[in-house]
This record gives sequence, structure tokens and C-alpha cells, in this order.
Amino acid sequence: MGKFQLSRLIRPNIADLKPYSSARDEFTSSDNRKIFLDANENPFDNGMNRYPDPKQTIVKNSLAQIKGINQETMLLGNGSDEVLDLLIRAFCEPGKDNVISLPPTYGMYEVIAGINNVENRRVLLTDKFQPDLQNILAQVDVHTKLLFLCSPNNPTANCMDREIVKRLLTEFSGLVVIDEAYIDFANEPSWLEELANHPNLVITQTFSKAIGMAGIRLGVCYGSREIIQILNRIKPPYNVNELTQRAALKRLKGWGSIREQIVKLTEQREILKEALSSVPFVERIFDSEANFLLVKVDNAEKRYKEFLNLGFVVRDRSNQPLLANCLRITIGTPEENNYLIKSIKK
Ligand SMILES: *Cc1c(COP(=O)(O)O)cnc(C)c1O
Repeated sequence: MGKFQLSRLIRPNIADLKPYSSARDEFTSSDNRKIFLDANENPFDNGMNRYPDPKQTIVKNSLAQIKGINQETMLLGNGSDEVLDLLIRAFCEPGKDNVISLPPTYGMYEVIAGINNVENRRVLLTDKFQPDLQNILAQVDVHTKLLFLCSPNNPTANCMDREIVKRLLTEFSGLVVIDEAYIDFANEPSWLEELANHPNLVITQTFSKAIGMAGIRLGVCYGSREIIQILNRIKPPYNVNELTQRAALKRLKGWGSIREQIVKLTEQREILKEALSSVPFVERIFDSEANFLLVKVDNAEKRYKEFLNLGFVVRDRSNQPLLANCLRITIGTPEENNYLIKSIKK
């Protein structure tokens, strides 16, 4: 397999694209004495009459400080879903290129590939829910552009082995996308620290889980300056709206309380795990580095309905490979978790 070369990975039409240049791209100023007559907005101030910052500079600044990285290695999107879609559209030629995903995992990789008419090659995780290095590399051909890893993985809740991921980073000449939606709940460090060492590493994170802002739709992509530049060229100019930018900034200012919630949720996870382990219909609870538990029960369909009748909506994952009779249970508030345990034991 050839060496990693970004210029060989990008779709030719994207490399040649002249991006849309918005009014706010062509003129930015914090000088509020300027009168903006360049974007055909309604001039009467209602707090929302202006287009949002297309570069989301203030939010990125705040995030860059928290994460200790440069904002030029960061792209924000309308949820992780938009970020994943941008990656596929930048690098995968429809009907020709392919990506690899590792089920059982997050279903959106396959769906977004499908929407873009890009083949998704599935290589099952091993029975320990780890990437199967040999089988992955055997599926790679000259048209394989992206490899999606999810760590901690949804729904298996474990982190991908660092040595295996390192080998994939060095032996696969496409982009390795590590989805870190649940990284704040993990014992492992983020792959962000490794960004500078691997030009083909891309990391996605989200405001939807630990940060507690699923409603605002904000996803983050980290990669080399070159990769981020490419994604910036194809993203819709105003893809992160003003309400989202304001809410994100406000939330990030309270990072301390986010940390407290993460600690509480990881404690609750272990409490719930302990309590569920003595429930007769529970056969196995997998170790979790996320804010949910993957639980193998005697009969998933039956227990799913029983949970529902008790008033709890969980996720039946038993139709996924390797996950026969497995339910995924999100960690709730301490009150909700207590009530869950009490209800089951009755
Ligand atoms: C929840 C989740 C996301 C978040 O997606 P958003 O579009 O940012 O809400 C991303 N990846 C995985 C694996 C998830 O479980």
C-alpha cells in the first residue's frame, strides 16, 4: 500500500472547486460602527437579523483553549452527522470509492456512505469488540478512502486498543476517522494528543453527549490544517447557526459543571452495573467507558417490552452482529437510575 498523500485522496472536483465566498467571508470586522449593507439582511435589530459568523471564531477560541489545540485544526458542523458527511463528500467519489466501518457500531457511517453512493465495507469487530487488523487491511484497495473507528464504541461501550489503532494509522494510507462521541466518559486519553504525529488522523467529537447539548446540534472535527482547509471549502457557509453558537459558548464557560456531571455519570454507571449484575435475567454486562451499559439478557425482545411497561425506554441492539439479546441502557440521573433498579427488583 502506498504512503499517505492527501492530494491523492481528495476528489478531483473538490480539489478544483472555487468555494462560495459569503459576505462575511469577504469582510469581517468587530468594529460595530460599520454599517453593514453587504448581505441583504433585514437591518432592523431583533438580535437575530444578522448572519452568523461562518468561521465560528469565538466558539472555536473557547474550545481551542479547553482542548489545548489550535483552532485551525478544528471544524464545526451541524452535529457530527454533518461532519461525517463532509468527510465522505470531500474524499469519496460516488460509485467508485469505498469506506470501511466495523460493526457492531454506530449506524450513521453506513447510512451517510449510502446516501453518497459510496460503498461501505463491513469488517466485524473481533469477539473482544476490537478491530480485526488483518481482515481490515485485506479489505483495503486503491479506492478505500476512509476507515471509521468509534472509540469508545457505540454500542459496545469499550475503547479500541491503542496498539491496533496505531498500526491502522501507519499501515492504512487513507484517513482514519476516530469518532470520540463518548471520550469524556473514558479512562483513556483522547487521540487528540496524537494529531500532530499522524497526518491521516481525523477525530470527531460532539456537544450531544457529555457536554449535554444534543438540542443545539454541534459536532466537531479535528485534523491537520490541510484536511480542515479542505472541509472548510465545502461546508455550507453558515452551517452553525447563531443560536447554536451562543448556546455553545455559554455552556463552555461552565466547563467545571460539565466535568462534575461527567464524574457523577461515570459513578452512576458503576452503581447501575453493580445493581443490574444481580438481576436474574441479566446474563452479562459489558465493561463500559461510555455513558451507557450494554447488557446481555435472556430474551431481549421480552425484556425490552417489560422495561417499556415499567416506563423505561431502552435500545434493543440485538439485531446487530455479535449482539444477540443485547440491550443498551443509557445512564440517567441518580433518581432515574434508582427508580430503574427498584422497578426491576419488584
Ligand atoms: C451520539 C453519537 C454521535 C453524535 O452525533 P451528533 O450528530 O453530534 O449528535 C456521534 N457518534 C456516535 C458514535 C454517537 O453515538
